Amino acid sequence: MVQLGQETGALLDRLGVDRTLWTEGSMPSATPLTGERLGMVQVVDAAAIDNRLDAATAAFRVWRRVPAPRRGELVRLWGEELRAAKDDLARLVTIEAGKIPSEGAGEVQEMIDICDFAVGLSRQLYGLTIATERRGHRMMEVWHPLGVVGVISAFNFPVAVWAWNAALALVCGNSVLWKPSEKTPLTALAVQAVFGRAEARFGDAPEGLSQLLIGGRELGEALVDDRRVALVSATGSTRMGRSVAPRLAGRFARAILELGGNNGAIVAPSADLDLALRGVAFGAMGTAGQRCTTTRRLFLHDSIYDGFVAKLKAAYATVGVGNPLESEVLVGPLIDRAAYDAMQGALGAAAAVGGIVHGGERVGDGGSFYVKPALVEMPGQVGPVRDETFAPILYVMRYDDLDAVIDLHNDVAAGLSSAIFTTDVREAERFLVASDCGIANVNLGTSGAEIGGAFGGEKETGGGRESGSDSWRQYMRRATNTINYSNALPLAQGVLFEID
Ligand code: NAD
Repeated sequence: MVQLGQETGALLDRLGVDRTLWTEGSMPSATPLTGERLGMVQVVDAAAIDNRLDAATAAFRVWRRVPAPRRGELVRLWGEELRAAKDDLARLVTIEAGKIPSEGAGEVQEMIDICDFAVGLSRQLYGLTIATERRGHRMMEVWHPLGVVGVISAFNFPVAVWAWNAALALVCGNSVLWKPSEKTPLTALAVQAVFGRAEARFGDAPEGLSQLLIGGRELGEALVDDRRVALVSATGSTRMGRSVAPRLAGRFARAILELGGNNGAIVAPSADLDLALRGVAFGAMGTAGQRCTTTRRLFLHDSIYDGFVAKLKAAYATVGVGNPLESEVLVGPLIDRAAYDAMQGALGAAAAVGGIVHGGERVGDGGSFYVKPALVEMPGQVGPVRDETFAPILYVMRYDDLDAVIDLHNDVAAGLSSAIFTTDVREAERFLVASDCGIANVNLGTSGAEIGGAFGGEKETGGGRESGSDSWRQYMRRATNTINYSNALPLAQGVLFEID
């Protein structure tokens, strides 16, 4: 048995985290791998929040005047530090969030990738020059930094989501205050320490540019309600979004909401079935079903249903479940008992409405919660199929008509990710046009997005977009500037207003 407490201490020491921050606090931190306590983390109290918001505001006033390519230099150094720390950080992600090692490493790689993206972006924060109707005038859009950006993140991407936000927010000229999940404070402390090393090498970053708020949801609420925070980027459950969205709207603050998903995949008769099997297996069982983009609903054409379900059952029966530090498994633990209880509740509810459940049993006992991923053959899209349960449950349904199944696919509250497996180009295009999700894929699963595209979803997923493409614009405000370089004052739309 690996001594996780000791190993975590050694990792945090190497990563440069002050020991008092995680040994002398009041908030316990545990590993889902064994349930073992890892530390007692210091939380931020109400008075300290106020000081940090003041510091973030002061830092913004300085940082916004730093030329954007110079801001990019800080993010470039941050990417270098992340490369150097990748193995240790990845190991810490595995210990604290329970991800298998390749997924832990993948998460840190995402941080590195977004740093690279943001460095390039720091020389491309451009606006348009627009033809004006007035002689001797010039009109253009200019993008300015926004202010203090608050980031609230979920346990299942304990470090990458912060990086998606922070890398863009920083090159755009903002300061950042991050409220990580209370379930993953140690990785947050570690990546903040790594960022601190980049700041030290950079030399003149203002104090308070990137700060951490460790504690419970009340700290997230403080960010949401404080007028000094210009934008809140909140990743988590739709339940959290329902509380956050109206409060931000009430003070006309900006929001990026990245909420729950209930992602579906369709396997059509012409699909490459081996490829589809691999795509569905990773989408449904990867990260123990704890990705916002996890495949939760599978629609199989009648003609391939029996054969595909048989192959899926075989894959489910043989997949390795257990502590990823002790053996080469593909499925690690659920985050905690509440996740296990929610999974069992959903399986019971599915059975009550006619679902045939395969798998789902607990593996082992003690303070950790490992489960066999569950495959549930459903008579239709009823009961728990309509909601996200954050656990490895794949509901399988039959279809015979593509248009009808796309309607069914869209008929849930969330709208994050979707996929079709087909070799028929017409089917693929019909699906891409009709899927109402922020992400729609052909011949790959619903999970595993790259940072280059805009990431996010529609409907109860919140409508936010993070990461690539033009997501950066949300971290800036746009000003339309018109300059008159003539001696006359022509008014727009030909309006006349002559004074003597
Ligand atoms: P959660 O909603 O319980 O918590 C997420 C974060 O929000 C935590 O930091 C928490 O402290 C904070 N929080 C909770 N209530 C709050 C409130 N009222 N005001 C302010 N902050 C509050 O989610 P979780 O269990 O950590 O993560 C799983 C959920 O996150 C799933 O629903 C998953 O789909 C979703 N998720 C979405 C995305 C996405 O990009 N769409 C990415 C990752 C996770």
